[in-house]
Amino acid sequence: MTTIEHWIGGKPAAGESERFAPVWNPATGEEQARVRLATESDVDAAVRAAKDAFTSWSLQSLSNRSRIMFRLRDLVERHELELAKLVAAEHGKVVDDARGEIVRGREVIEFACGITAALKGGFSTDVSSGVDSYDFRQPLGVCAGITPFNFPVMVPMWMHPIAIATGNTFVLKPSERDPSASLLIARLYADAGLPDGVFNVVNGDKTAVDALLDHEDVAAVSFVGSTPIAKYIHERALRSGKRVQALGGAKNHAVVMPDANLDWAAAQLTAAAFGSAGQRCMAVSVAVAVGDAADGLVDLLKAKAEAVVVGPGDDPEAEMGPVVTRAACDRVEAAVASGVAQGAEPVVDGRGLRVEGRPGGFFVGPTVLDHVTPDMDVYKDEVFGPVLAVVRVPTLEAALDLINANPYGNGTAVFTFDGGAVRTFERGVHVGMIGVNVPIPVPTAHYSFGGWKDSLFGSSHIHGHEGVRFYTRAKVVTSRWPRHTESQAAQLNFPTSS
Ligand code: NAD
Repeated sequence: MTTIEHWIGGKPAAGESERFAPVWNPATGEEQARVRLATESDVDAAVRAAKDAFTSWSLQSLSNRSRIMFRLRDLVERHELELAKLVAAEHGKVVDDARGEIVRGREVIEFACGITAALKGGFSTDVSSGVDSYDFRQPLGVCAGITPFNFPVMVPMWMHPIAIATGNTFVLKPSERDPSASLLIARLYADAGLPDGVFNVVNGDKTAVDALLDHEDVAAVSFVGSTPIAKYIHERALRSGKRVQALGGAKNHAVVMPDANLDWAAAQLTAAAFGSAGQRCMAVSVAVAVGDAADGLVDLLKAKAEAVVVGPGDDPEAEMGPVVTRAACDRVEAAVASGVAQGAEPVVDGRGLRVEGRPGGFFVGPTVLDHVTPDMDVYKDEVFGPVLAVVRVPTLEAALDLINANPYGNGTAVFTFDGGAVRTFERGVHVGMIGVNVPIPVPTAHYSFGGWKDSLFGSSHIHGHEGVRFYTRAKVVTSRWPRHTESQAAQLNFPTSS
């Protein structure tokens, strides 16, 4: 059995722990490898390596840092298929879908290639007589990233390229369910010429996470995962004085107005609900059908959901793979059962799906539940599987009330040709990322990604310019250059501009 280790100080590191977690092949249900779970002292070794590398890395010129990012970008492009296959094998998503996350992650590296422009400060001459002011930003030190299973390449890339390009060093704690892609990224960083210790990977569970949260040499923590853990990370990291951004779970609503192109909307919703078996934080899990849109929309969703080809991630014909673990499969099926028991109508029921030749795989088929109401558990809970709940509402205002009453606020979308309805929606909705006839509005790398309410704890979104701000702190210099011969009496009043 293969053992997946850590990456510390520029090379693989076995660590001292004898605790392991299984890494499943979700398509077959077999354990394909085991990952070593770090101890506190393994984490300490990674943080020390990052701390040792910090001083010289932070003094590297911006052009040297950006050249390494350019090389990394090319390497990630060249290794795209290899990375995608690794992701598909451990996560379960189909290879083409995995390629998509690598391309979107690479866009953040492309943003980091331009770090020189992103770090430009301001300069004001003569803010007072003979006095100039300018500001610039400096890195924080060792930054940690703790990431979820569902985007093992893209989500860490929301963090480390920007943290590293701004002059920090980084310790990544990826999900223990699909850890291999992070180790390949570590090798690609080394091949790109990144000095040893600037990027480190520790595999592990709560023990490793807590060690990072409490470590005095970790300056900042970026977390992406479920809401209860995000909240915990935020509170614990703040208690130990760290800068922290913690992105949580989601319940994303897509509103379909009666004037929408229903066939187009149904196709977008099908892709957004069932792509990656619904295991995306931006997956659409609630279709909000407004007024007359409902019956036609549900008929189209039924036809399109039934047409989705489910199979193993390495089957080029498959459009949707299994969910990540047996426990996830059981949880999704239980959520559907509870929805049906509480009065939802199963228009398409994916429970009990068996894929030919893969009897042990963790498969759940696309599921559409109609007449879902906000009091049902299947509406309230984040199901994180291929389940689309249809809630029928009479008006756009009722749709907004529904979304705004939901504790999550990650993404949302509206399908319509009515510009006035769009304006009302985008101004009034309490959600961080909005799509207009776009079902999965994940911002491109130059914009920042982040939700509202229980979908994000902390004050800054991730990547883009908010990422640059998160991983740096500002200095403002006020300077004056008196002549050697100049003399002035001491003035004890608080200085004002003159
Ligand atoms: P998770 O919260 O279970 O795990 C995320 C990370 O936290 C992993 O590295 C894990 O090892 C660690 N962790 C888990 N339990 C812990 C504990 N008790 N103490 C300390 N650390 C712990 O999430 P997941 O199941 O890997 O990923 C799915 C979740 O992530 C969903 O809720 C999804 O919505 C969310 N997600 C959110 C975004 C976003 O941008 N808001 C993006 C992707 C995923």
